[in-house]
Amino acid sequence: MRKKIVAGNWKMNKNLPEGIELAKTINRQVEDTKVVVILCTPFIHLADVARVISKDSLFLGAQNCASEASGAYTGEVSAEMIRSAGAEYVIVGHSERRSYYKESDEILNKKVKLALANNLIPIFCCGEVLAERQTGKHIQVVKSQIEKGVFDLSADDFSKIVIAYEPVWAIGTGINATAEQAQEMHKVIRDSVAEKFGSSIAGQTSILYGGSCKPSNARELFANPDVDGGLIGGASLTAADFMGIVNAF
Ligand code: PEP
Repeated sequence: MRKKIVAGNWKMNKNLPEGIELAKTINRQVEDTKVVVILCTPFIHLADVARVISKDSLFLGAQNCASEASGAYTGEVSAEMIRSAGAEYVIVGHSERRSYYKESDEILNKKVKLALANNLIPIFCCGEVLAERQTGKHIQVVKSQIEKGVFDLSADDFSKIVIAYEPVWAIGTGINATAEQAQEMHKVIRDSVAEKFGSSIAGQTSILYGGSCKPSNARELFANPDVDGGLIGGASLTAADFMGIVNAF
């Protein structure tokens, strides 16, 4: 059985005391169930949040990592540092990183490899912009992002990663992909993984949906056979909304 996952991406929100408070509240409310719940916090929150989460099904993640291992890269945070702060996951390739910080497929591929080398599980994001969907290029775009980002991994390494399909037009807009649109793309992704790594690995790969997911639509989205959970932005910033999504399983 592949893992069911709900990961919160706090982005650049919450100062340190606010972040610790939110993590404590979620920690109290998470049950030790089969759903893996992940809090992807800003870097400076990681070590403190690690100390306040105690449930077996609650994990910590970062939102990015450096594309180099160590050295003279002022302002960067390495995968090794993130792991040493207590995180077990890291988001790689979020559309905001791809577009605002010009992170290319090649850079993201390096980040994925450094994350894995440091025992972090990459949550690898992919997704098309609106114009690509409107011109019928969405499937080709997402397949290409995955092929360039993670298809040169060994089967063993690939089997550790999580994929998040996040249509860019749905992120933070209040307009989520329909259940049918999400299922269609998740199946495309799983079929591509099967073609490259075999059906057993494809069947074990968790593929999350992200983009305006909230308590009111999570159940319908997660009911699809190839949707294994969600990567949640805005609705991860309050315990009530986030737990509403976790409890949608
Ligand atoms: C995200 O940024 O990963 C995301 C899914 O954001 P939102 O839930 O706010 O659309």
